[in-house]
Amino acid sequence: MARYTESVCRLCRREGAKLYLKGTRCYTKKCAFERRPSPPGQHGVRRRKMGDFGIQLREKQKVRRVYPVLERQFHRYFVQAENTDGVTGENLLRSLESRLDNVVFRLGFATSRAQARQLVTHGHFAVNGVPTDIPSYVLKPGDRIEVRESRNQREPFKMAKETLRSVQVPEWLSLEPARLAGTVLTLPRRDQMPLDLNEQLVVEFYSR
Ligand code: SF4
Repeated sequence: MARYTESVCRLCRREGAKLYLKGTRCYTKKCAFERRPSPPGQHGVRRRKMGDFGIQLREKQKVRRVYPVLERQFHRYFVQAENTDGVTGENLLRSLESRLDNVVFRLGFATSRAQARQLVTHGHFAVNGVPTDIPSYVLKPGDRIEVRESRNQREPFKMAKETLRSVQVPEWLSLEPARLAGTVLTLPRRDQMPLDLNEQLVVEFYSR
């Protein structure tokens, strides 16, 4: 499965915003964007004027990098969102939020989506009792995600019962720290997705 393997801090500098891709490091003074907010590369510090296309492209890349999915898969999410009733931009974000790796991150089992993706691909989770190792697995209301019994004594989860107690999960999810499990209550509304992203620009980008 193809994925981005270069430095993710470059992506924050490229997009001119903190995308919080590295978990706890993002909240420390070691954050590369805090130390050097200019775009990466030899000419990064040069001011560049952006037109409408550039602004739309950058916002699309930002959304894609936050989740993180590759271009082809992201475009598929967009086409699906367009063919679904409702507001296209909101549908797009809802599909991305409903991915298994994102829900594992939102439930507090991982400090970043990248770490969540790794935990999922290593087969630590079950959905409705069925072991599932596909990060893009789309969850529906009522789905229950739990750490598999055979894995709950392993390193990332040993202390999790305690640390999960302090996690604030979004309203559309519920968490049972003692059972290392969570449930999708509903699909999220836009106001329940705390994202500093302008999805309308993504819609405009693909509608050119
Ligand atoms: Fe972005 Fe986090 Fe790296 Fe800072 S530490 S540049 S927020 S990925």
